[in-house]
Amino acid sequence: MRKLLSLLLLYGIASGEPAHWDGLIENAPAHPSGADGLSLRLNQAYAAEVQRLGGPQWWLDSVGKQCRKNVRSAGEHPEALGLSDKGRHFIEEYAAEQQRLAKLQARYPSEIRWTAEETVGWEMPDRTFQLTFDDGPRAGISQPILDNLRQFGMPATFFVLGKRLAEAGDKCPDYSGFVVASHSYDHANLLDLSPTALTDQFSKTEQQARRSGLKLARIFRAPYGSRAQRELALMRRLGLRSTLWNVDSQDWQADMQARPGRIASRTLALMLLHRHGIVLMHDVQPQTPAELARLLPLLARLGFRVAP
Ligand SMILES: [Zn+2]
Repeated sequence: MRKLLSLLLLYGIASGEPAHWDGLIENAPAHPSGADGLSLRLNQAYAAEVQRLGGPQWWLDSVGKQCRKNVRSAGEHPEALGLSDKGRHFIEEYAAEQQRLAKLQARYPSEIRWTAEETVGWEMPDRTFQLTFDDGPRAGISQPILDNLRQFGMPATFFVLGKRLAEAGDKCPDYSGFVVASHSYDHANLLDLSPTALTDQFSKTEQQARRSGLKLARIFRAPYGSRAQRELALMRRLGLRSTLWNVDSQDWQADMQARPGRIASRTLALMLLHRHGIVLMHDVQPQTPAELARLLPLLARLGFRVAP
């Protein structure tokens, strides 16, 4: 029951209603300057909405600082029009979603508050992103994603589950040229585990990766982003760096999957808002390959770089 409750909090209540901006991906800016103009408006609207909503002071301060920096990076765009109704609605929903995460922070650590020893993506250069895919491998989904990334010459990181590697056996996707790292053995909420069960999540995944012929990078993504001091201390001992995300596609949400293009639109809106960082997708969701295929051709046109 406790497990169910924590999953509901992390996956349901914590995320709230996903924010939509249907149609953005089909009507994306045509060039980097258009992207900057939209980015400027999004940051102005988000900063104002977060201050209006209120919330924990550390969250208000952190959003204010990020938005001011982004406004400077976007530069002057006197020609940039105001946000559309859909854009304004997206920002209102997204701010409320982030406020709910900020309020749950004391009990459920998430990507919006982190320690200096973790990576979230904020330290990356302007207009630079990493693409990450969690929970795989899964037959029929991981491989098309890998093929699509190769076609565009884009690097990415796959945070795999030891259990899914074991299930894939010798039908493991071809990860050559990509970063592969651990996302635990079976996606347990680490905070619920005994000390032995916790270390097993790491060691069993390492063992399975060796059997699958994979060399895991020294980074780790906690399932649900759920980790506290005990988990961070263990990662430190194992030489692993905790790696989170700041652009959450929510590609696992039924409501996000209900309309083609919705996941790609949300991801693009957050890339324009945050301007840099780590994008989170899942190579176990049937819609994800097609949504990624909508997004990838736009990135160079918008002046975005994908980093390893
Ligand atoms: Zn996961």
